[in-house]
Amino acid sequence: MPVYQCQHDGQQCRHHRHPGGNGRAARKQVIQKLADLVEQHAEELALLETLDMGKPIGDSLNVDLPAAINCLRWNAEAIDKVYGEVAPTGTDSLGLITREPLGVVAAIVPWNFPLMMSCWKIAPALAAGNAVILKPSEKSPLSAIRLAALAREAGIPDGIFQVLPGFGHTVGKALVLHPDVDALAFTGSTQVGKLLTQYAGESNLKRTFMECGGKSANIVFADAGNLDKVAREAAQAIFFNQGEVCIAGSRLLVENSIREELVERIITYAKDWQPGNPLDPASAMGAIVDATQLDGIRSHVARGIEQGARLQVGGEPVLTDGGGCYFPPTVFDRVDNHQALAREEIFGPVLAVIGFDNADEAIAIANDSPYGLAVSVWTQNLDKALNTVLNTARRLESGQVYVNNYAGGDMTVPFGGAKQSGNGRDKSLHSLAEYSQIKTTWIALGS
Ligand code: NAD
Repeated sequence: MPVYQCQHDGQQCRHHRHPGGNGRAARKQVIQKLADLVEQHAEELALLETLDMGKPIGDSLNVDLPAAINCLRWNAEAIDKVYGEVAPTGTDSLGLITREPLGVVAAIVPWNFPLMMSCWKIAPALAAGNAVILKPSEKSPLSAIRLAALAREAGIPDGIFQVLPGFGHTVGKALVLHPDVDALAFTGSTQVGKLLTQYAGESNLKRTFMECGGKSANIVFADAGNLDKVAREAAQAIFFNQGEVCIAGSRLLVENSIREELVERIITYAKDWQPGNPLDPASAMGAIVDATQLDGIRSHVARGIEQGARLQVGGEPVLTDGGGCYFPPTVFDRVDNHQALAREEIFGPVLAVIGFDNADEAIAIANDSPYGLAVSVWTQNLDKALNTVLNTARRLESGQVYVNNYAGGDMTVPFGGAKQSGNGRDKSLHSLAEYSQIKTTWIALGS
């Protein structure tokens, strides 16, 4: 199929201009086609994802793939629904505000949701008319490489979307230092995010959109209501995807009067999250991505014990006979927010429970973190919830706040962090807007 050309009754389109392949209608068509192809190859892509990084096949198929497909379709749909503005100038002039692509966008992504994270970047970047170079994590390149082949089949021209696998310190670094790369869309650790911001400054001051780490607080007040539901969701918030989730609810802040009861219920739910063969559709938890990550989780646990936190369940690798990297749901109680367990991102299924006695204390603990990616508040008291979330004097410092749920959201709302969790936004029209620059054109009338 010819690329970047509208097809009207098999004839090349005469109604739209497609200079350099930038026609919006054609762009929409090929990105929609890519979404269709990803959907048709969903099982294959899900298998690649699970083989590469160990998440359960059920999640790859039912969570990651639908999210990736939806993101491609949503951004393709938006292409001809977002346009410029005319400023309310005087009668002697016309002020036009238009949006232009940035140019070449480098997208550097992590391994925890390889395809979904890739689509969160490439879908809006391509939709906004940029050329994109995607660098997947060296730990999980397979789905991105397959995506490149599907993009070609969809009709995205060579050079408009490229996948460049490789290590971060070589390939990634070269991309970010490159003077012809106009923007960097990054998802990964805060440590690497800081380094890449320096590279951007050393080279051409390319724009950088950072989605980095987190140590998110899940705050449960005594008036949370159905504690069993809260416990079930708190377990899911930390154990889903082996805890390898940027917004994992890794700090559970619980009002002391209900702390022991809630911890007991979470330990009961932890049994539902025992690791198993990632290829078994019945497994709720899969394997840790690799031995390095497993060692990191083990040393965090050892330090937690050393520092006096109480290990309630888990704490040692399991299913070691086959040489796999499996770590069970692990819960520490009586953690102090100054201990490493509460300050450092573990990126594994390890929950730190911290008690509090009132709302001010809960907010202070939640905010006492270099990160600000997500936070959740559980209470049946709407006034307390809104006061905690929105009151400017004592608000929660976070890019996302969930009330009586954890990790809610869809393509219509932005996803991103505050503080050292980053400055970019994925999803929604706010993300699409990041991938274009504003041009002002001032026209004198009647001269
Ligand atoms: P990472 O920072 O080690 O690597 C992320 C990407 O950066 C990889 O592709 C890697 O190859 C590349 N990279 C590493 N060093 C580089 C360098 N010197 N130059 C250029 N590129 C380099 O992170 P990870 O271990 O892959 O992923 C886990 C991290 O990602 C966690 O901190 C997690 O919180 C974060 N994350 C954040 C979000 C979010 O939306 N905020 C989402 C998912 C994951």
